[in-house]
Formats: sequence, C-alpha cells, structure tokens
Amino acid sequence: MSTSPHGRRAAARPRALTLRTPTPAPASDSARRSTGGRRAAPSGRSRPVARPAVARRFTPRDGLAALAMTFAGGLLFVTSVPALAITATAEAPVNNVYEPVVADEIVAAPQQLEPAADAGPVALAPEAYAVEAAPPPIQSSVASLGTVSLVKSDAIVWPVVDPSRTSSGFGPREAPCAGCSTNHDGVDFTPGAGTPVMSIADGVVVLATENGGGLGVNVEVQHNIDGELITSSYAHMQYGSLAVTVGQQVTAGQQLGLVGSTGQSTGPHLHLEMFGADGVRFDGMAWLHARLG
Ligand SMILES: [Zn+2]
Repeated sequence: MSTSPHGRRAAARPRALTLRTPTPAPASDSARRSTGGRRAAPSGRSRPVARPAVARRFTPRDGLAALAMTFAGGLLFVTSVPALAITATAEAPVNNVYEPVVADEIVAAPQQLEPAADAGPVALAPEAYAVEAAPPPIQSSVASLGTVSLVKSDAIVWPVVDPSRTSSGFGPREAPCAGCSTNHDGVDFTPGAGTPVMSIADGVVVLATENGGGLGVNVEVQHNIDGELITSSYAHMQYGSLAVTVGQQVTAGQQLGLVGSTGQSTGPHLHLEMFGADGVRFDGMAWLHARLG
C-alpha cells in the first residue's frame, strides 16, 4: 500500500490543521453539519487546506550546485581538449612534443693511456734507507697470565667516541652514593648507556670479568706507552657486553664492551682508571688530553 504524501492516507495531516484552526464558511459548513468536527476527518469530506504553490526560492546551496556544475563542465572541457590544440593558435611557433630530436653525431673513441717508457718500480739501494730497530717490548708479570710481552703502542685514542660528556673528575669528591669512595680513583665518561667502550691504546687484556665487585663488569688492558708500562681499567660496563678475553692482544680503538651501570654505580657511565707499574692511580683525563688535545 502506498504511503505517498500524495495519496489519500496522507491527507490526514492537512485535516488535523483544519480542526485546530477552522477555515472560513464554505469549507467548514459541510463538516459541521455532518459530524461536528473530529469525526469528519476519517470521512474525508472536509476539504484539506491546499498548500500554496509558491515557487521555490533560490538558495545559496543552489548557487554552490550551479558553481560545481560549471566547474565540472570546465574540467570536462580542459581534460577533453588536447594540450596541443590550445597552443596551436599561438603566434610564436611552439615546439611540438612529438617533434623528433636531432642529436649531433657522437663518436665514442676509446681512451688511450700511454705509459712513459721509464715508468715502473724504482729499486732503492740498501744504503739508501735505514731500518730503525724496534724498541724492546716490556715484559710484564700478571698473576693470571704469567709474563706478558707488551710492544709499544702505535696510537692513543679516547675510550668513547664523544669524550666531552663527563660527570665526575679525578680526585677528592663528595661520595655520590653510600659506599662510594670520597676519593675518585678514575674519571667518569657519560656518553650514554650502550655506547662502545674502546681500548685507549694497543695492549694486552689482563683482566676481563663480569664480577669485578664495585667495578662491576670490568676490563683491564696493559700498554707499552713509549717504553712505560701503563694499565687502563674500564668499569661498570653492561653484563654480556664483554668483547675480549684475558690474554687477548687489542689495538687502540678496539671495542672492549658497552657503557653500563654494573657494580657500585648510580647510572650508566664509563669509569676509567689509569695507573703505572707502581699501581698508583693518576688522572686519566689529564693524561689523555695531554696527548689528544
Ligand atoms: Zn667513576
């Protein structure tokens, strides 16, 4: 069954309107006579109020719709007309995209290399150069290794790539934690957890342990620095990060482990200690600065 507003059943709405606001005589006469108001509605005999047939106003929405249609039409025109058709009317000649490119003739000649007739290795007479005898290695005695032979280191480097970030210097200090020393035996670098820790010079690993007590994961390397026995100690590294073993020869810059916070430590940092054959700690930061700037 249709529920169209134009069908008979839809006429109820206009009738309800006529009950509340009675219309003048001709319409209400018959309704009053027959049923007296409400009951006239189902009979369909009362005359529905006709909606005024007013022309629809032009609204801003209509304007937008018209604009959109105009734009769409414009697009249709632009996309359906080839670009060349537009430039075809230009006064000045326009290069046609289909015009073949006339390239200059290219002759690819192979390159020729003619070596000089006297070119070649030049042999030096034995008396033309001198061989310096290598300095004798330092023989160091290490409890766990026995005698360690240390050749002179070729290079010295910082133990971390960015040595500018430091926290605690060498010497007397206020203990940063309960149980921390009031005299700092080393220097603290704070390049961030996980930063590679490198040997400051060529040498031999004489200690590599994850159980270094307050020093946590700790590596010690002995070096021959210009004939002097120097030991560097790298503390608080991450568990599982040890990259060397006792007795291993390492070169300057070789990775030993990663910056961590094991042992007596309040945060990730590299605690670097340095000492000579007498075992007395000295300021590694000053020592490195003096050699590296
Ligand atoms: Zn420290």
